Amino acid sequence: MPTLADQFGILKSMASNPQILRARPSVLWFLMQYMGKFKTTAVDGNYVIHSHLPPLNSPAYRRFINEHLLPATSGPSHAQVGLTNLCPQGCGYCYNRKRSGTVMTTETIEVVIADLKRLGVFWLGFTGGEPLLNRDIVRITERASADCTVKLFTTGCTLTPELAADLRRAGMFYVSVSLDHWEEEKHDRSRNYEGAYRTALAALDIFRNAGMHVSVSAVLSRETIRNNETERLVDFLAGLGVHEAWLSEMKPSTPDGWKEEYVITDNDRLTLVRLQDRLNREGRITVNYLGHFEGREHFGCTCGDKMVYVDAFGEVGPCVFVPLSHGNVMREPLATIYERMRSVARASDGCFINRNYGLIRDRFQGTLPLPGQVSREIAEQAAFGPPARFFRLHNPS
Ligand code: SF4
Repeated sequence: MPTLADQFGILKSMASNPQILRARPSVLWFLMQYMGKFKTTAVDGNYVIHSHLPPLNSPAYRRFINEHLLPATSGPSHAQVGLTNLCPQGCGYCYNRKRSGTVMTTETIEVVIADLKRLGVFWLGFTGGEPLLNRDIVRITERASADCTVKLFTTGCTLTPELAADLRRAGMFYVSVSLDHWEEEKHDRSRNYEGAYRTALAALDIFRNAGMHVSVSAVLSRETIRNNETERLVDFLAGLGVHEAWLSEMKPSTPDGWKEEYVITDNDRLTLVRLQDRLNREGRITVNYLGHFEGREHFGCTCGDKMVYVDAFGEVGPCVFVPLSHGNVMREPLATIYERMRSVARASDGCFINRNYGLIRDRFQGTLPLPGQVSREIAEQAAFGPPARFFRLHNPS
């Protein structure tokens, strides 16, 4: 249960955004029901539902209300940027495999981030490769974080207490450390890196001591879900004292994953949705499963429209898990590429890549992401469902 101090903070943040009451009553009711599924956590003066949304008392949350909730804005809200392609670990399911090219300079990354924010982005994920290997990560965070939530996805490799403190001072608040299994040997094997487990546990401590909101990102195989091992993993994470379990299933994003037997069904997804709701009611740890947020009951899939990915080589795609490119920021302005991508994107009730990876597999010629014209053709042929509940309520026409 939130403490009195937490409740005061929540009320204060609502009082400072009274304009939210101008939203459609059905949308407000939806948001109240959705947020009511989570315990609000207070961390270092920030009031957090979960780390896919900005803290309730942050400027980024105000931008969510003013730029996306009240008007039916057409720009993106969330984006991920690859800060480097380097990574010492070698996960079999990494969405970055088969990508290559010339990496963006720090100056290009800063222009990209400014452009994303101008288009509407209020939540920005730093990914890679291992983003901590970008030596300018503190400077980049500083430029990004004033009115935008910044979340770091990391293995923890090369983290020091000094770097964590510098990142916190620069405005980083959400961090997610990769940890797929409670057994050291199994995690190290899935990461193809001896010491991955110990590195991750050390990073969790360092980030927590720096005053960050700390989550663990875990990639679940279909077997983990079907063998009911997810709850054991979440129990383990609760015991570590992390704030949030950020869960996603293995996605068919690269050739190794393009097999039907690896891809989850809607039943598997609903198993995790129910588990999340129960564990959040119990309240030991926040559970935030991507397929819950992006399920048809909530916000659905908005890749290429509300979600944008710019990889370390400047290729612009719909989402980290979708290996399509609609252009490169080193050749064209991001806004031009985004408009082109959005013209073939549709808000839908289920994960684009889980549904359409076969189209990508059929056109694959050895490198990813697939080039612009092929990407456009695939997006035009792809199967989409109707918009998810939030977007049906928000844009009823
Ligand atoms: S393609 Fe899947 S992972 Fe990507 S934004 Fe859509 S639902 Fe999320």
